[in-house]
Amino acid sequence: MDSWLFVYEGYEPEEEGLREALCTLGNGYFATRGAGSETQADDIHYPGTYLAGGYNRLETKIAGKVIENEDLVNLPNWLPLNFRPKGGKWFDPEETEILTYRQELNLKEGILSREIRFRDEKGRVTTLTCQRLVHVGDPHLASQKLELNAENWSGEVQIRAALDGRVINAGVDRYKSLNSRHLESPETRASGDLFHLKAQTSQSELRIAISARARLYNGGQLLPLVPRTTEKKGYISHLFTTDLEEGKPLTVEKAIALHTSRDKGISECSLEAEKDVQRAGSFDDLLRTHKLAWKHLWERFRIELDWNDTSDHDTQELILNLYTFHLLQTSSYCTMDMDVGVPSRGWHGEAYRGHIFWDELFIFPLLNLRIPEITRALLMYRNRRLGEAREAGRKEGYLGAMYPWQSGSNGREESQKIHLNPKSGRWIPDNSRLQRHVNAAIAYNIWHYYQVTDDMEFILFYGAEMFLEIARFWGSIATYDDDHDRYEILGVMGPDEYHDGYPDSERPGLDNNAYTNIMAVWVLSRALDLLDILVEDRRTELCEIIGLGPEEIEKWKSITKKMRVVFHNGGIISQFDGYDRLDEFDWDAYRKKYGDIQRLDRILEAEDDTPNHYKASKQADVLMLFYLFSAEELGEIFESLGYAFEDDTIPKNIDYYLKRTSHGSTLSRVVHSWVMARSDRSRSWELFNEALKSDVADIQGGTTPEGIHLGAMAGTVDLIQRCYTDIRTRDNVLWFNPMLPEKLKSIRMTLRYRDHSLNIQVSQEKMIVSSLRAAARAIHIGFKDEVYKLQPEESREFRL
Ligand code: BGC
Repeated sequence: MDSWLFVYEGYEPEEEGLREALCTLGNGYFATRGAGSETQADDIHYPGTYLAGGYNRLETKIAGKVIENEDLVNLPNWLPLNFRPKGGKWFDPEETEILTYRQELNLKEGILSREIRFRDEKGRVTTLTCQRLVHVGDPHLASQKLELNAENWSGEVQIRAALDGRVINAGVDRYKSLNSRHLESPETRASGDLFHLKAQTSQSELRIAISARARLYNGGQLLPLVPRTTEKKGYISHLFTTDLEEGKPLTVEKAIALHTSRDKGISECSLEAEKDVQRAGSFDDLLRTHKLAWKHLWERFRIELDWNDTSDHDTQELILNLYTFHLLQTSSYCTMDMDVGVPSRGWHGEAYRGHIFWDELFIFPLLNLRIPEITRALLMYRNRRLGEAREAGRKEGYLGAMYPWQSGSNGREESQKIHLNPKSGRWIPDNSRLQRHVNAAIAYNIWHYYQVTDDMEFILFYGAEMFLEIARFWGSIATYDDDHDRYEILGVMGPDEYHDGYPDSERPGLDNNAYTNIMAVWVLSRALDLLDILVEDRRTELCEIIGLGPEEIEKWKSITKKMRVVFHNGGIISQFDGYDRLDEFDWDAYRKKYGDIQRLDRILEAEDDTPNHYKASKQADVLMLFYLFSAEELGEIFESLGYAFEDDTIPKNIDYYLKRTSHGSTLSRVVHSWVMARSDRSRSWELFNEALKSDVADIQGGTTPEGIHLGAMAGTVDLIQRCYTDIRTRDNVLWFNPMLPEKLKSIRMTLRYRDHSLNIQVSQEKMIVSSLRAAARAIHIGFKDEVYKLQPEESREFRL
C-alpha cells in the first residue's frame, strides 16, 4: 500500500457522503467536496463548495422563537461536467452498469481522480477518467480534466460544462428545518469561450464570481468547437457536440477562477475571475505549479516513521498523511493573507457552520513548528475581533475581552441558543456558550506562538493587547469567597459538554470547573510575565489604552495564589464543585441497551434524563490539564495555590476519569492517548489508533460526511510530533524528552524553531537535533532537566 494514495475501490452510494468529505480539495481560500462532477445535491451526493470565512446569516422561526444562524455558505457549484452519447442519457453511476470504479486521492500532489469503466443500456462500454485540482499555490484557480474512451463504439457525444448557483445549504440533516437559501441575485453571462456566474449572499452581501472555460481536445489537438450556451436563473452551461471514435480518447478540460468581493488587490470580483481564467494555462500547466506548491508544503510537514512492527504501518502513515493534508487544505499559505480562523470541521462541509471554536488548541502546534506565519494569520483573526470580545465581556459585567465559544464573521457569539436533538426531535436549550475556557485557549495559543517564534513585533502590537485583555476578563470573572478564603469562577462550563448545569437547578453553568480555574491562573501568571517582558514604553502605552492599573494587577497576583480547586476521594481533582455528589453512571447497562453511547447526552435527553445527574463526561476535562502542561508546570501551579501535587496525582486522575468518559467528542481520544503516553504505553497506542480512525472510519456514525474533525486530525498527527518526543516550548527553551511507543523505531522530521530549521531524529535509543541553517543566534534546547545551547548548523546527540 502506498502511504500517499487514499483509494476507494468500487462505487458505494451509501459511502459517498464520507468519501466526498474525505476527498475534499481545498487551498485555504476555498474548498470543494469530492463529489463527482456529474452529481447534484440529493440523498447520496453533496457537491458543496465553501469559501474560507464565507458566512451569511439567516433567520428562522422555530419552536415559537425567531433564531438567527450564521452559516458557512454553500457557494455556486463549479463542478458540473458530464457527457452523453447524443440522444442518450447523461452519465450517472446510479443508472448504468459499473464495471470497475476506482477513486484515488493523491495526497502528495493534491489530485483527486476517478476511473470508471461502465456499460450503458445499449451495451456501449466506455472508460471515464477524471482528474481534479484546487490549486494550492493560486487561491482562485481550480481545474478538471475528463477523458472519455469508447471501447466498443463510436458516435456523436455531447459534453456539458456548467456553473450552478441554484444551490442551498442542505449538507446537514438536523439543520434542514432552518432557512437555507443564502444566495441571491444570480447573474449569468457568456463571453467568447468563457461563461460566468455571479451571486450574492443575502445578508453579508458577499459577492461571489466564478468564470469558467471548457475546451475539448482530440489526440492533444484543441477542437475548434463553438459551444451552445444555455442560461437559466442561476445556471449557465456550455454544450459541445463532437465525435467520439472507438479507441481514440476525447479530453475535456474545465478551468475555473473564483473571486469574491472580499479579495484584496481587486477591482471587481467578476472582472478578476474572468481575467484569471483567461490567463490560466492548460490542466497540465496548472498541475505542474500545483504539484510544486504541494512539494514545498510536504517538505515542511512530512514526518518520516520507521516501525518495529510493520503489520499495519502503511495504513497508519496513510491516515497521518491524509490528516495533515486536510489541515493544509483548510489553513495554508493562501490563508496568510486572509481574515479567517481555523474552523473545527474544516471548510469541508456545513457542520458547525464553519465556526471557530477552541479546537485551535489542538491545531496550532502543528502549524507553529512548521509554518508559524499561518498561525500568526489565524491569531490576527482573533485580534480583529477584540473589540467585539470586549463588548461581550462588558455586557456580562466583566472587564477585558470575552471571546465567544463559537466565532464566525465578526466575532459575536454564534453558538445556538437552542439545538435539535435528532434522537428525540426536541429543540433544547444550548448553554455551550458558557465555555469561557475558549479564552484561555486563545491566550495559550498566543503564548505558544510567541515561544516558538520569538515574534516580538506580533506581541508588541497585537498579542500583548489580546493577552492582557483576556487576563483582565479572568481577573474580573473570578470572585472572592470569604468562606474558603479563595477565588472562584461560577456559572461556566468546562470542555465536557455533557455537564451544563447542576441537576434540578434552573441556573445554567457550574462552579469552579477545575480546568477553567487552573487555566485562568496560568493566563494570569503569564500576563504578569508579559508585563515584565514588554519594553517599558509599550507597556505603559498598553496599560493606558486598556486602562489596566496596579489594583487589578494586585488582584491577579492574589488569584494566582488563591484560586479554588475542589478535590474529592483524596486527590481526585473534581471536574467542578459538586461533581462528587453526582450519581455513578451505569455504563454497562447503557452500552448493552444502545451499543454506541458516544452521544450519551442525546440518548439521556430522549429518555427525559440528563447527563447532569451523572459522573459521565463527553470528553476530557480535568485531563486537559495533563495534555497542556507537564507534571512540572502543573506542580508549580498547584504549589503556588497551596495544593498538594503528589507523584500519583496524574495516574490517579487519568484512571478515574477515563472510566467515566464516553469520548463523545473526537478530541477526547487524542487527549487520553496523550496523557497516557508514559504511564501506559500500550493503552495510549490503542487510543492513538482509535483517534486515527475518527474520520476515515467515521466513528461517530455519520458526522464526518458533514465535515471533518480538524482538531482530532491535527491532534492525532501532533501525538507523533510532540507527544512521543515530548516537545515543549517553554521559558525560551525547546524541551525534548522522547519516549517512543514500542511499535515505532524512529521519527524524523524538520521543525522550525525561532530562526532555526531543525532536523529531529528520534529512535528508541537516541535523539539527534541538528540545526540546518546559518541562523543569526544560538537557541536553547532542553533534554530531560538540562538546558544546552545549540549554535546555528550545530548538531547534538542525546542518549535516551
Ligand atoms: C466538542 C467541542 C468542540 C466542538 C467543535 C464538540 O463536540 O465537544 O469540544 O470544540 O465539538 O469541534
